[in-house]
Amino acid sequence: MKPTTRRNFIEKSAKAGVATLIALPAINALMAAGRNTTSPLAPDFKIFATGFDQQPLPYAYNALEPSIDAQTMDIHYNKHAAAYSKNLKEAAAAEKVDTTKPLEDVLSKISKYSVKMRNNGGGHYNHELYWKCMLPNANAKPAGKFLTAIEKDFGSFDEMKKQLTTAATTRFGSGWAWLVYNSDKKIVVSSTPNQDNPLMDISEVKGFPLFGLDVWEHAYYLKYQNRRADYVENFWKILNWNYVGERFNSL
Ligand code: MN
Repeated sequence: MKPTTRRNFIEKSAKAGVATLIALPAINALMAAGRNTTSPLAPDFKIFATGFDQQPLPYAYNALEPSIDAQTMDIHYNKHAAAYSKNLKEAAAAEKVDTTKPLEDVLSKISKYSVKMRNNGGGHYNHELYWKCMLPNANAKPAGKFLTAIEKDFGSFDEMKKQLTTAATTRFGSGWAWLVYNSDKKIVVSSTPNQDNPLMDISEVKGFPLFGLDVWEHAYYLKYQNRRADYVENFWKILNWNYVGERFNSL
């Protein structure tokens, strides 16, 4: 997509909301392509199948202010995340990966691929998920059977928040904190180094990511400098619980 076209698309997408993102023809094609695949962890993961191309942001760069500033979003999306997609496609071409199939297929067997595939496949997947898990003025909370499941597995919503905050703030160096639906059918908190994620066969905690929180310095340094805990605290205000709940309800 040319930059000008992409800019227009982002503006249109921001107006239309997340629904535009999900309705993209590329995603529909992937869903169709993934219809015959199965995952023991997430029977309906194909609904959320991820392609190899970067999708438009579902909101404007400044939409998440004051939690995340516009310059951080611009650089994060257009430089860091764009590079993961570009490098992933290079690795896919070199390693003869069928890019019409969901990226999740590669991630689940990532030990069979190169380090370049692992870093950039994870990097691309994680960011595509991260953008969708945030929403301007979200201020929402989990509801229904999703909230019931959180309360059953953690004791309370606040205990889950506490555990995830600890995972995010104590991850040494660069990485991610996750809310995961694991193979024991429990919701758990985990964290991964670098761009690894719970879909990968090499991950310590394996499962379906309900949401991921980027704790690389590039995600917060311009506004928060060394204050990662402040970034994490403000992330809760823009977490799109409705979308995260849809992911849980698909399982
Ligand atoms: Mn990032």
